[in-house]
Amino acid sequence: MGKKARLRPPKPCDSCGVEDDTQFRVRRSDKEDWRIVCKACQALVKSHEDYMYGGTWKRKKRN
Ligand SMILES: [Zn+2]
Repeated sequence: MGKKARLRPPKPCDSCGVEDDTQFRVRRSDKEDWRIVCKACQALVKSHEDYMYGGTWKRKKRN
């Protein structure tokens, strides 16, 4: 448990390195590992036939 801040550090996109408060867990196919990517990169990955969405990573946990 943290002493004060609940905020986690922003997570960089696995693809382009952009840090954001909200990132998306995706993979291009079941042969690839999951990646945490930004919204722009998610849009690119989405075009793949076997695209899979694994949830949203949020910096701010709801409380
Ligand atoms: Zn990105």
